[in-house]
Amino acid sequence: MRQYKKEETKAVEKYICNKCGKEILEEDVFSVDKRWNYFSNKDNEVHHFDLCEKCYDELIATFQIPIEIE
Ligand SMILES: [Zn+2]
Repeated sequence: MRQYKKEETKAVEKYICNKCGKEILEEDVFSVDKRWNYFSNKDNEVHHFDLCEKCYDELIATFQIPIEIE
């Protein structure tokens, strides 16, 4: 028989804003996960980034059409 070591889980230790580099509380993270289409210029790559609230506000301030708020 073989006994296997327990695989380390990929648990998040902390979140860091990709734009400003500051640490973010888990409940305030704006996360993007995007798998680009095979026919896009990124050819099926998966892109991921996290933003803090301040950087999120700066991003949406650049939108031509305001976001929808419930
Ligand atoms: Zn930030």
